[in-house]
Amino acid sequence: MKEEKKSILGFTKEDLEQKISPKFRIKQIFNWLYHKRVKSFLDMKNLPKELRSKLEEQYSIRNLEIVSKQKSIDGSIKYLFKLPDNHTVEAVLLKMRDTIYNEDGSIKHLPKYTVCVSSQVGCKVGCAFCLTAKGGFVRDLEAGEIVEQVLQIYEDNDIECNRKVNIVYMGMGEPLDNLENVAKAIRIFSDMDGMSISPHRQTISTSGLSSKIDKLAKLDLGVNLAISLHAVDDELRAKLMPINKAYNIASIMDAVRRFPVNIRKKVMFEYLMIKGVNDDIKSAKKLVKLLDGIRAKVNLIYFNPYPGSEFERPKEEDVKKFQEYLLNKGVLCTIRESKGLDISAACGQLREQNLGEKK
Ligand code: SAH
Ligand code: SF4
Repeated sequence: MKEEKKSILGFTKEDLEQKISPKFRIKQIFNWLYHKRVKSFLDMKNLPKELRSKLEEQYSIRNLEIVSKQKSIDGSIKYLFKLPDNHTVEAVLLKMRDTIYNEDGSIKHLPKYTVCVSSQVGCKVGCAFCLTAKGGFVRDLEAGEIVEQVLQIYEDNDIECNRKVNIVYMGMGEPLDNLENVAKAIRIFSDMDGMSISPHRQTISTSGLSSKIDKLAKLDLGVNLAISLHAVDDELRAKLMPINKAYNIASIMDAVRRFPVNIRKKVMFEYLMIKGVNDDIKSAKKLVKLLDGIRAKVNLIYFNPYPGSEFERPKEEDVKKFQEYLLNKGVLCTIRESKGLDISAACGQLREQNLGEKK
């Protein structure tokens, strides 16, 4: 194992102010780390030599290694990163087309990027449909390990530092179970001297730890919230997501009602459609009732089967009918494009494949 140096990517500017002075040096360091993306402190040319070698002694800049990369036909790329202790986590770069109108009225298309990051190795929540859950929980990721997933993906794809990118905490792990490090990563991503990814462009997806949703609300980071609902009654939800025994649907809805949602935004409800389990119109009806009075949008996700999974992918017509019902009732509802289906984009699937190959 590499010698243990703390990753500097896990520090906010405020953290570094306790350790490095004068203050303007920290701005310079952020510029080298996130704009010029240098990999050694010795290359930070405008810092005094002494400071450069002191930083080199105390901190590291790169700790993750890309061990596998899969490109989907739609351009999405799935990464498997190895951590210093040899555990692995996944992150995905999703590319969509953004239409930009030039001043002369002509149109140009630019890729719009979203990076999906992991927050833990494994997960404690243990959802029945999720491959990440199968391997159990190993450990929380440090803030620097979350930040580095995005930084390396920028680097690997030559994404300019001023490019507007979205971040979703929808990879492996339950972000609210590692709130301290996730909150720190959100702050580091949004630093104007760093990657400038506003919290409004970042979305935390949670299985519904109601007390932690309240805690997140108190931090008032300005981040978006997505709830993995997947079922509309407690009995079924507890079967799919055992966490529902601790935090039932009503407690989640109450926490969502208390959450400070940006005036232009909505809370996203993810609904994983599983054939014959929750894809009927009766469920859609109940969902409409549940969302009454909440500024919500629903995202329907096709269950993505994997070898040995006990559930099946729903029929396209059932998903469309479900969506239509919600739309008719005035509930905003999208169907998540099966982005990267051919690279098995659902969380945990690349890692599992890789472990399988090694067995
Ligand atoms: N733990 C958090 C965030 C990571 S999971 C959460 O549960 O919200 C991110 C999303 O992947 C969740 O909405 C989850 O339901 C979905 N997911 C898990 N397994 C899946 C599968 N086999 N097919 C499709 N989506 C899946
Ligand atoms: Fe954990 Fe989310 Fe997977 Fe559930 S769906 S086991 S909360 S990662």
